[in-house]
Amino acid sequence: MFDIEELKDKIKITDKSVECPVKGCNEKVIRQRKVFKRENRFKCPKHNIYISPSTFEYSNEAENLLWMDADDKDLFDKIKLVKREYRMARDNSEDAISLNVFRFLEKNNLVNDFIREVIGVNVKKSEVIYWSYSQPQENTWKMLTKGREEFEMVPSKGSEPDIIIKTDNTLFFIEAKFTATNKTIPRNKRVKDKYTMGGEKLWNKVFYSDFKTVAILNKKYELSRFWLIGSWIAKQLNLDFYLVNLVLSRREKNIEEIFNRHIKINKCRKFLRITWEDIYHYISNSNLTIKDKDVMIKYFKNKSIGYKNGRLQQAFSIIP
Ligand SMILES: [Zn+2]
Repeated sequence: MFDIEELKDKIKITDKSVECPVKGCNEKVIRQRKVFKRENRFKCPKHNIYISPSTFEYSNEAENLLWMDADDKDLFDKIKLVKREYRMARDNSEDAISLNVFRFLEKNNLVNDFIREVIGVNVKKSEVIYWSYSQPQENTWKMLTKGREEFEMVPSKGSEPDIIIKTDNTLFFIEAKFTATNKTIPRNKRVKDKYTMGGEKLWNKVFYSDFKTVAILNKKYELSRFWLIGSWIAKQLNLDFYLVNLVLSRREKNIEEIFNRHIKINKCRKFLRITWEDIYHYISNSNLTIKDKDVMIKYFKNKSIGYKNGRLQQAFSIIP
């Protein structure tokens, strides 16, 4: 994995070519445009990375992941079977970052502590579900399948929260954003009926606004689906529900205020914004003495978020 210490601060981009971002490398590749493509003509032969003017992708996803023990590898292979899009190899992949961070918490038995310190809820037991993959069920989490069937027109292609944490008292849906924003709208407007009629018209109980206002005019389609389906599942399981939006600290600072205008929150049902930097501070302030902590801290400090106008961008707002 190349971090900001190994990457050039500035890369030369022309109309036809881009130089390899790795320090000391003189290779140039043909400049690619629009949708990112993994093709040989865009690959640095020395570093085996596919290059675009704004990012790069490893040949092998393992190079972008921090944990690759046998049990990690086994888990990742299983996630691959249920996850709809599996793109872990790109430097700016929010999936790879989510996996690196949450797998660290899970492997080191820090999930309950993280929930208490960062989200503010006391839990005793927790289970992490990555992109719908339930580890005990070894398949798509059954309750999510039921939720999709209740509200979605094509359940097999239904909503997929990045990280679900099911605990003894609360269900958490964590929607992680890195380069993307929360702005999404439905491609097919006919989806509205099932969302608003499903779960005995649960929509009316958990939203103030109608579907068009939230999902289309305010472009909060994805968050609204998670809010609806998560509320429904939590109710079936007799749990509280938190929808947690995990973003960079400099982005979407008022997302709580914006989304809370449309949804009915109460003691048992909340929408919360937390930041990647919150998680970094939680880990760095902890008393952990494990080796993995140093790996995680270095990752947060030195992670890149690609190039903007040829200049390298540091991902997290952390003073090195
Ligand atoms: Zn190179």
